[in-house]
Amino acid sequence: MLEFKGTAISTGYAIGKILYLNNSKKNIPKYTVTDTESELKRFYEARNITSNQLSILNNRAIESIGSKNALIFEFQQMLLNDNAFRTFIENIIMNEHMNCEYAVKMTSEHFSEMFANLDDDYMRERSDDILDLSNKLLNTLMSENNTSSNKLNITEPLIIAARELYPSDTLSFKKENILGIITALGSFTSHASIISRIMGIPSVSNTGAILERLNGRNAIVDGELGKLIVDPTEGMISQYKSKKQRYEEYHKMLNSQKGLPTQTADGKKIDLLANIGSIDGVQSAIDNDAEGIGFLRSDFLFAGRASFPSENEQYIAYRAVSKAMGRKTTAICMLDLPPDQQDGYFNLLSKEKNPAMGMRGVRLLLENPNLLKTQLRAIYRASAHGKISICIPMVSSVSEVRSFKKTAKEVRDELKREGINYDPSTQIGIMIETPAAAVISDILAGMADFMTIGTNDLTQYTLAVDRNNDELFNFYITGHKAVLRLIKMTIQNGHKAGIPVDLCGDLAADTRMTEKFLRYGADGFSVVPNDILEMRAKIRSINLSEKKTK
Ligand code: PEP
Ligand code: MG
Repeated sequence: MLEFKGTAISTGYAIGKILYLNNSKKNIPKYTVTDTESELKRFYEARNITSNQLSILNNRAIESIGSKNALIFEFQQMLLNDNAFRTFIENIIMNEHMNCEYAVKMTSEHFSEMFANLDDDYMRERSDDILDLSNKLLNTLMSENNTSSNKLNITEPLIIAARELYPSDTLSFKKENILGIITALGSFTSHASIISRIMGIPSVSNTGAILERLNGRNAIVDGELGKLIVDPTEGMISQYKSKKQRYEEYHKMLNSQKGLPTQTADGKKIDLLANIGSIDGVQSAIDNDAEGIGFLRSDFLFAGRASFPSENEQYIAYRAVSKAMGRKTTAICMLDLPPDQQDGYFNLLSKEKNPAMGMRGVRLLLENPNLLKTQLRAIYRASAHGKISICIPMVSSVSEVRSFKKTAKEVRDELKREGINYDPSTQIGIMIETPAAAVISDILAGMADFMTIGTNDLTQYTLAVDRNNDELFNFYITGHKAVLRLIKMTIQNGHKAGIPVDLCGDLAADTRMTEKFLRYGADGFSVVPNDILEMRAKIRSINLSEKKTK
């Protein structure tokens, strides 16, 4: 038995035989041609065949992954018919007297590189789609080595192993015949990965295994832990069979929640949002049907580097997240890097003895007006491209909020003077994560568009227990009465002022507490993407009009 650790791309378990798919296009023939007219003819024929394949794939994709994801094939169809793309190929054949395969390869690489260097995230992502299109053209041209016939001949369920898969590769299989996918290359956010998640195919990449040697061997793909087990023992197989069964039953229930409204059994609508800590998290939020981003930790842009991220770098990141979320709101939490994680370049204070109580969140920002202004400018600029709101972290007094809002106004005025677009209706909310903020939440509520209760810090500060100290684990009592009272009070104060109050932090995703929080009046929950569907199922099972049984 051999075990390899890789990247978990799509969850679930597969147990079966491996089929190694040799779809790498390393050896594209390159030779000169004298009869350029017939070479052009070969290209036009391949183009027609590919165009038909794309129409079939497009229809299949609309059925299995939805029309939004199927746009990949529309884009490929567009490029195939694009004059510049066609002329580039024709020129290589006619002027350089090169063969068609070589012309397609060079042209695709040229266009792919051009797209990869574009400023726009959407366009940059198209770069892989161009290579996918090129593979299709080459498959048709080199039909003697055509791997697609190999694919279409799959008549029994198998685990597919390949160096790299493109969206059309995955879609060209019948879903019931792919048990799982193992690839040597492939990132979590690539299109092929997204498609395997949408289709629910367990998938692992970057395992380091030499895939060519695995053809025909039994294996287990563990898409939860990102593991590949080759030649598993009987014991291992039966262990995984029961894991698989439990997983499938649970996920069937969760998947049935996708697309359903988040509301209680008696019809109260609740916001169910995602907490994410990086740009990559957006995809997971979308996959899990988040109704928005309730809490984007901006710390990832600041940690582990040598200098502050520029306004433009931040702007590009915020814009990418909010654009990906479309019409749904992205709540960006201002920088809140605890002092012990602040890299040298912050250079703000000498080492703090008690970092959790130190210079972080809104304090750090107000003490460093340039840092604050730069981040606000980046966020406001991004607000012109999506629906964004701003959260102020670690508030403990009214004056902090006042100063923060004053700077936010200065930034808006500055942008207006400079003629830079931003959304003037961008909301500003307060994180309630210190006991002080909860106690004065009646006043703070009057200064904010919304409040979000950060239950992790609120618990640590209320109980005076360091949330990062494992030795104090038994004292960090989640759902402690004192914390619950502060939560209830904050929600009531928010509602008196007419603003919504959400919960984030780990306690927000504790389904044993959901009914309690809903009865307090919580308007929404922001949880990690993987917890969204379970939370939806929980919320939909609760009937607030029924009297509590205990
Ligand atoms: C919290 O404190 O609950 C919270 C959501 O913020 P963080 O975990 O980033 O401190
Ligand atoms: Mg916090």
